[in-house]
Amino acid sequence: MLNSIRLRMTITYLLLIVAIMLVTGIVLLNMLEKHYLSSEEENIERTGRLAAQSIISYLRDDADPVLLSSVAENISHQINARVIIVSTDNLVLGDSVRIGGLSGSKIERPEIQDALKLEKGCSIQYSHISKQWVLQVAVPAREEDGTPLGVIFLASSLNPVYATLAAVQRFLLMFTFLALLFAGALVVFFSHHLTVPIKRLTSAAQQMAEGKLDQQIPITSRDEIGRLAQQFNVMASRIMETNQRLTRFVADVSHELRTPLASIHLCLQSMQEYEMKPEEQKEFLDDIYHETQRLIYLVEDLLEMTRRQEVAEKVEVFSLKALLEGVLDSIQPRVDRKELKLFTEIDEKLPLLNMSPEALKRVLFNLLDNAIKYTPSGGWLKLIAKSDENNVRVTVQDTGCGIPEEAIPYIFERFYRVDKARSRYLGGTGLGLAICKEIIEHYGGEIGLEESQEDKGSTFYFILPVERSIQEYHEELQLVESPEPV
Ligand code: ADP
Repeated sequence: MLNSIRLRMTITYLLLIVAIMLVTGIVLLNMLEKHYLSSEEENIERTGRLAAQSIISYLRDDADPVLLSSVAENISHQINARVIIVSTDNLVLGDSVRIGGLSGSKIERPEIQDALKLEKGCSIQYSHISKQWVLQVAVPAREEDGTPLGVIFLASSLNPVYATLAAVQRFLLMFTFLALLFAGALVVFFSHHLTVPIKRLTSAAQQMAEGKLDQQIPITSRDEIGRLAQQFNVMASRIMETNQRLTRFVADVSHELRTPLASIHLCLQSMQEYEMKPEEQKEFLDDIYHETQRLIYLVEDLLEMTRRQEVAEKVEVFSLKALLEGVLDSIQPRVDRKELKLFTEIDEKLPLLNMSPEALKRVLFNLLDNAIKYTPSGGWLKLIAKSDENNVRVTVQDTGCGIPEEAIPYIFERFYRVDKARSRYLGGTGLGLAICKEIIEHYGGEIGLEESQEDKGSTFYFILPVERSIQEYHEELQLVESPEPV
């Protein structure tokens, strides 16, 4: 149960409100109690002192208990308190309570002693007889020279004070209850807004885990959760795309493998079923040889694709010029065999590159191989390599069969071939340009077909970024290794 964010949020907020209201309530009630008690005490004390002034003359003479009791009763009516007038030797001279009062009896109260000694005696006590809290104040009545004549003892009920405090307490409780209700409703409302998208995300992720990849969730807000939902949608569509690409790739590969296998199978079946002359058999074996050769190329290209990441990661700094020269040397025999001409236009100063030389060689081989494959004897091809501050651009130009306009957008796709039969005959797999594109884009470069005209030729190019820091570092290194003579 407590695993739900919504419940935890609700409980936390409600507890917070209860705690705040509890502390506020206690502090407020305490302050109010102090305030009411001290103002009540001041009030009674003030009345007591005034009364003390007024009874001095009665006390001076032999005090008449009846008179003093009626004075006490008068004062009692004014402040709604019991008033007792006591002599300095604790004899009650007058009591506002006439019947059952203390007149004529002795009274021992610490407040009276305090009044005589300290000018004021005060206490709050619970009266078990009247079942209420009572504030008791005693003040002395003195001659002008300070001689004490008696004490006025006043006892006032604190019921009104506590009734007010109880009302405040009830109000606070009710307010807390309302605040809890209101906050509870708000938290439930907001946490619903918060948790519904999370629930949607969880269920979509669960569906994806179960293999249903076409998950998209509605974006209902622009906050963090909205952004999370957005990223989830992006991720889901990427996974979908990758999955679709993979399925298509497997289907394409199976299709590519099936054609040569079917033709090998057919050849073998015919050889098995029919009596054949040796020349016929040779023809069939030749076909089988070609088809297996094709299968080998295909599997090699497929392996190349799976190893691409591995190869691409073997990064090192090398000279592009040296690499180009090596590649040109190695394809020269094929160029000669096909009676083609190979021209080059390579900048004197080409930059150092920081990537996998094997991967770059593969790109150059593929482009040059295509140029040789698709150019008839007597034609020419040209390799141009130029560089500026930021990039190096390599172009492979040929005078071959060219590419029809409608095929141009697809030539970098896996297994795409303009003329399947021709490409197959020439040993093509339809993977060469796709591999080139993956490699070049892996290093942040760009590859494309600059121009192509049917029966006139094609120009492919690729651009790679140049890392300035590497050039500068190696220039410095060369200076250090072979300093100029002074
Ligand atoms: P393939 O192994 O079939 O050559 P690629 O991916 O290298 O596969 O090329 C894809 C297709 O693009 C080729 O089948 C071919 O039709 C076309 N193509 C590539 N390079 C050239 C070129 N230099 N001249 C004409 N057509 C080309």
